Amino acid sequence: MQRIDSLLATTVTLTGLAFALGSVPAHAKINVVTTTQDPAAITRAIGGDRVEVTALCKGNQDPHFLDPKPSFMLAVNRADLVLAIGLDLEVGWLPPLLTGARNPRVLPGSAGFLDLSTLVTPLEAVAVADRSEGDVHPKGNPHYWLDPENGRLMARGIAARLTQLDPAGATSYAANLASFEKTLDVKQAEWQRALAPLAGKPIVTFHKSWPYLAARYRLEVAAFVEPKPGIQPTAQHTVDVIQTVRGKGIAIILMENFYDRRSPDQIAAHSNAKVVFVPSMVGGDAKVQSYFDLFDAIVAGITAALGAGSGPAP
Ligand SMILES: [Zn+2]
Repeated sequence: MQRIDSLLATTVTLTGLAFALGSVPAHAKINVVTTTQDPAAITRAIGGDRVEVTALCKGNQDPHFLDPKPSFMLAVNRADLVLAIGLDLEVGWLPPLLTGARNPRVLPGSAGFLDLSTLVTPLEAVAVADRSEGDVHPKGNPHYWLDPENGRLMARGIAARLTQLDPAGATSYAANLASFEKTLDVKQAEWQRALAPLAGKPIVTFHKSWPYLAARYRLEVAAFVEPKPGIQPTAQHTVDVIQTVRGKGIAIILMENFYDRRSPDQIAAHSNAKVVFVPSMVGGDAKVQSYFDLFDAIVAGITAALGAGSGPAP
């Protein structure tokens, strides 16, 4: 009995050690927790049935200000891998969650934590943060998943990290990544064609969520409905935006569908611009289940607003 007990103890210790080293027992699915839905959708595409994915922020919630639920802590406690957008997007709610969850395997710096912003080149990084300029992100704009080419970089990084944690799945992750990138190539060409009529033209956006999309498709963001990032629209600022929209003949007010559309609607009512009210994250609308669905919805919203004739043939 003594021997069996000590053998059991050794096995338990070894299992604990395997966990501590960041590997996962062969039979178990890799438990992935993502802060938002887009990394979750990409992880499902890459991980297939080898992963179990939980996203904390819903696709129609504001990811800057999330109220952590008790279930979040439980999810992080059980996670093998936590994926964050980074660049301070989740600065108000992720750090306390990571500390409170008591799971050293997913703390920043360990194999079980991946800050996805390290995979991309951030836009709008500033040397010194000036809080009077609103809710600025000094390390760069965190809305980088809205450039599909950044989605490609995220997918590659996620595939690499899953392979590190679960070497037995290497072939499967590589095959799924290849298929993801192949679909992305086809889709990217489609989106490029559909948005070509807007290239070089000014648009208005609600929040500063769209600079990556704008850079990819050469749109010029001329004004924001928010007077400063994270600050509610004011009457005076709305009047100013109406003036800009009229002066520049702007056709599109692009907005994330979890914000209040009253100010954008006012701007549209006093100009020739149309409000494009679209999800900015996977799950922002029931039809948007994959990362590709997200851009399909955004591009369809924009081309519909531009009117028949300027979009692609149906
Ligand atoms: Zn933001």
